Amino acid sequence: MPVEPDLEAWFGAEGLVRYSVTASAESDDDDVVEVAHLPLVALGPRDDDFVLPPHPDALRYAGKRLHDMTLKDYNEFIFRWFEAAIRMGDARCANCGRVLYEAPEMPPTDTWDAIFIEKDLVAWMLVHFDCKRWLSKKLTGIQPFELHPREAPVYELSSSASREKPRHS
Ligand SMILES: [Zn+2]
Repeated sequence: MPVEPDLEAWFGAEGLVRYSVTASAESDDDDVVEVAHLPLVALGPRDDDFVLPPHPDALRYAGKRLHDMTLKDYNEFIFRWFEAAIRMGDARCANCGRVLYEAPEMPPTDTWDAIFIEKDLVAWMLVHFDCKRWLSKKLTGIQPFELHPREAPVYELSSSASREKPRHS
């Protein structure tokens, strides 16, 4: 079971599950199989950079539990998860593929944003500000129902729900 049933149900209740229909491989008649596609998280620009959505309870997230979360809360959780991915050097821009980092005095060309897309593809991703204008063209080339997402990397999110890195003034 790649994604926990309660997380799948939660996404369903939020209207974030997409469905595709394929012909059944096991019969010759017109049987079709409906396949559910959950939201994904992109750690980079390639099709194989997509991972399955992480579960806040499984990571002992210091914020709310899943069953208390609104979509806004889950977005916040994903942002914390992305911050951890950046600290580990795992996160790259969804457009250009450069590794993202966080520094107190970051040049404008390296600043990034987390975005949430809710179309046929439902996904969270990170992108440089300067790359945003290219992203929609990039995303139209993705066939969301043909992606084979990996399991999400596990990050430590139990210690703090806020930025751990001290800010230099
Ligand atoms: Zn970029």
